[in-house]
Amino acid sequence: MQPYNVGILGATGLVGQRLIERLTDHPWFRITALAASDRSAGRPYAEAATWRLSASPPRQVAAMVVRRCAVDELGECDLVLSALDAQIAREVEPQFAQAGLAVISNSSAFRQHEEVPLLVPEVNASHLELIEAPRRRNGGGFIVTNPNCSTTGLALALAPLHLAFGIEKLVVATLQAISGAGIDGLRAFDLVDNVVPYIPTEEEKIEQEMGKILGTLEGERIHRAELAVSAHCHRVPTLDGHLEAVSVGLRRRVEPVEVVAVLEQFRGEVTDENLPSAIERPIVVRAEPDRPQPRLDRDCGNGMSVVVGRVRRCPVLDVRLALLSHNTVRGAAGGTLLNAELLAARDLLPRRNPA
Ligand code: NAP
Repeated sequence: MQPYNVGILGATGLVGQRLIERLTDHPWFRITALAASDRSAGRPYAEAATWRLSASPPRQVAAMVVRRCAVDELGECDLVLSALDAQIAREVEPQFAQAGLAVISNSSAFRQHEEVPLLVPEVNASHLELIEAPRRRNGGGFIVTNPNCSTTGLALALAPLHLAFGIEKLVVATLQAISGAGIDGLRAFDLVDNVVPYIPTEEEKIEQEMGKILGTLEGERIHRAELAVSAHCHRVPTLDGHLEAVSVGLRRRVEPVEVVAVLEQFRGEVTDENLPSAIERPIVVRAEPDRPQPRLDRDCGNGMSVVVGRVRRCPVLDVRLALLSHNTVRGAAGGTLLNAELLAARDLLPRRNPA
């Protein structure tokens, strides 16, 4: 396949860095542009970015000059992967889509828009139908989003249970890593010897996003899944990997062993499409009583698996469990890339500068 030209918006941030890491030597995509704020524009990437993932950024991007996040600066790109804050994304992403580019975004700005899929490919690939109208209107351009970093693991682990047993309600308490707050997130002073029981807008995002992700496509609209969600979000002093304690109320009485069987059998909707970032087992169930743990389990499946453990009866709802997913990989860059790969595999990405 002739590689697609990819631009990264917000390339200097934590998610932008993960995108660069996972796009280096990608078989279908090549990075042709890196963009960030006016603070970084005009500078070589290695100088503009505070690289956090290893000793230094990949040599393919180190000398690339960072551009501004503007359509006229990224003309050669077929698609942009966006790792911008919601406020900036709200302004910038539609400009790229209207100019005929595919925008695959991490940001929350358009997750609830009715023409924008909130995509977890293994769970709701059929929601891609939503981009047909914007594609027609914009000469191929559209926006696709991935969920919030704490919603992604939750949706992936609970989707097969919703399908098999019907989830009526759920309560989730999250223990979220520092990297979820971005590169300038919290100061060490705030988090050493401490847990912060508040992450702005996070609980609302989980509560709103679950219904859309688990919803069904009816015509050109999503009929939201009717489930009551109560989220409690906490920032804890781990670096990567969000741990979540979950209780679910189901439509019928179900034994924990049935839940484990359904989770272990799950392979998802995109198993036949040979996507480079897809993994054989999106859900991995651990039997040990003290797993999953962030340090031990966050890199499972190259950071793309959600790891579930402690599946047991819940005396208040029906079943409870613990789950873990890597927030900047499965919950951000890896999820974005998987979305882009699915679009490429289905021939839904524009070719703006065909060879
Ligand atoms: P971050 O580390 O703070 O990075 C923000 C990026 O946005 C930087 O590249 C920054 O460029 C750029 N930026 C800031 N102001 C800008 C402006 N006015 N114009 C253009 N670019 C601007 O944030 P992050 O953690 O990577 O998160 C990025 C997005 O992904 C957010 O929407 C976040 O909610 C979402 N997300 C994050 C995670 C996670 O685990 N971290 C997970 C899922 C989703 P400069 O370096 O030039 O300032």
